[in-house]
Amino acid sequence: MNRVEHAEYIASAVWAARREKFKREHGRRCLACGSKNKPNVHHVTYSNAGAGKEPDRDLRLLCRAHHELAHKYEKSGRYGRFMARGTLFAATQAMIEDVQASPGTSGGARTRPTRSTSSRPPTRRDKHAPRSRSRTTRRRSGSGQVIGAVMAVVVVLVLIGVVRNGSSSPIVQQPPDSVTSIASVAQAPPVPPPPNPYLVQPGDTLQQIADGSGVSVADLLSWNPGITDPDYIDIGQTVMTAPPGG
Ligand SMILES: [Zn+2]
Ligand SMILES: [Zn+2]
Repeated sequence: MNRVEHAEYIASAVWAARREKFKREHGRRCLACGSKNKPNVHHVTYSNAGAGKEPDRDLRLLCRAHHELAHKYEKSGRYGRFMARGTLFAATQAMIEDVQASPGTSGGARTRPTRSTSSRPPTRRDKHAPRSRSRTTRRRSGSGQVIGAVMAVVVVLVLIGVVRNGSSSPIVQQPPDSVTSIASVAQAPPVPPPPNPYLVQPGDTLQQIADGSGVSVADLLSWNPGITDPDYIDIGQTVMTAPPGG
């Protein structure tokens, strides 16, 4: 399944039914924090996605905040190369374990919960893979985990800053005055062309951005290779709403 097929699948009634069945059978709770506030169904791999036939082991129920965090882990580079096979699975698992190990903000010396019994696919990592180092860090102490998480975020932010002018980066910061929300565009009587790139606002979905820009979700995915999950986009992320160079 390529990215365009995947986007069409995520928007389909088949996936809506599969997603609803999964929620019904898995308690509608975030795996990381237990929140029952509208959990998202997140794929940890897309290799079996399509036709509503992905097995339960490919899916995770996560609240919006932890769904977001899973994709931040995915993009951190600590769990394998971004978009490589196995990276999203490992990142999601690590995020869930981190959150369970330090609930709330206090960190604390709580005993680690029993590790999930879900099958872990073989992950190919060489002996220099950063995963082992980060796992050691996470086991050190509650405060160590919090510091590690903060450091990871800082590293990601620094990396974003370093590559912000690179043409390959999907995340290009824009000064606030150069972007306009879809909502304000929609309210203006003569509809001006949507801004490109578009800066994602709270509550936006890829479908809304596509509709507001007069293009398809598949188009947006093809122009924004950094978006790996059409169900999830970051607030403040930029989305190209026209072909590159066009
Ligand atoms: Zn959660
Ligand atoms: Zn996801």
